[in-house]
Amino acid sequence: MSATEYRYALEIFREDGTPIGQVPVSVDFEAARECALFAGMRRNSLAIDEITGNSSILPLWHPDDGRPYLDGFRVAFDGEAGETADDFTGGFATDYFRPAARKASVGLVAEGRLKEGEHFRFRTLAFPAPVGGDSAAATSREARDVSPPLDLRETRLADLMEGALTSGTVDAEDFPVFLPSRVLEEVRELSRGAGAHETGGFLVGHLHRDASLPEIFAEITAQIPARHVISDTSRLTFTQATWTEAQGMLDLRQRGEQWLGWWHRHPCREWCKNCSIESQRVCHLANDFFSEHDRQVHQAVFSRAFNVALVLNDVAFSDATYSLFGWRRGGMEPRGFHVLAGRSVPAS
Ligand SMILES: [Zn+2]
Repeated sequence: MSATEYRYALEIFREDGTPIGQVPVSVDFEAARECALFAGMRRNSLAIDEITGNSSILPLWHPDDGRPYLDGFRVAFDGEAGETADDFTGGFATDYFRPAARKASVGLVAEGRLKEGEHFRFRTLAFPAPVGGDSAAATSREARDVSPPLDLRETRLADLMEGALTSGTVDAEDFPVFLPSRVLEEVRELSRGAGAHETGGFLVGHLHRDASLPEIFAEITAQIPARHVISDTSRLTFTQATWTEAQGMLDLRQRGEQWLGWWHRHPCREWCKNCSIESQRVCHLANDFFSEHDRQVHQAVFSRAFNVALVLNDVAFSDATYSLFGWRRGGMEPRGFHVLAGRSVPAS
């Protein structure tokens, strides 16, 4: 298959619609590829061994304005026979270009064309790249390393669902995630001793497949505290020593668990201590808040489509609450999960 390569640009506007300029951007499509691949595997439409590792990004042109304006894009995979499998997510919106827009805005601020902190809007454009391609266009199609095959156990989804309590809304687009209440309690206990600092750890467990549905789902079985971290009140950074020790602890468990994600605590009571309890209750930091730093950590370390992030919201006005975040169409979104209440997960 020979797909056209594209270069991407953003048209930046002030909030009142005044154009500021057009900025070329290089876009990382890895998260979109990974999401589309996982969506295909969940629905059994795509077996990992059918994928040669090549995929193309296909622009979806704006219905009214047409080329070069984008409404979004699709990911197309090359099959073994050179056929193209379709995108199983139904496509990506131009929201996907938001991180690129944020980066572009930094340059515009440096040039004095945009004020620091000024809100802006953007439109996304795509242009066919010259034949032979330049480096920016090459990012839209590349011979990526094939993602390692998923380590799946055959399990009936109904078996885990039985007696599980649902927390939040599990969107049909989100794969099911199960968390034992014991892990939630451990996270709360560990957070209690952390004072004003962010604290965190890792989530490990198993990926299951129920071929009769078909569906893939995650069962978190344990958390591993992260030590040797660099933390202050607003961010948590894992170090090489953190990873070495956590890997050692996972190996010691000998349960065949894999890394499914991470957890960390937001010391909201600390962040908001100068505000009234009434305003803390409605503060956006108190619930389902995932910072830009959190997103960067997740993207760097937990880039697989099944990787999730649990946040403990340590608030002053009530008991701590939990927010779970996962990949949705290439972005990190709050999502619901299922609590395996009072059930001890058998050690295998
Ligand atoms: Zn955070």
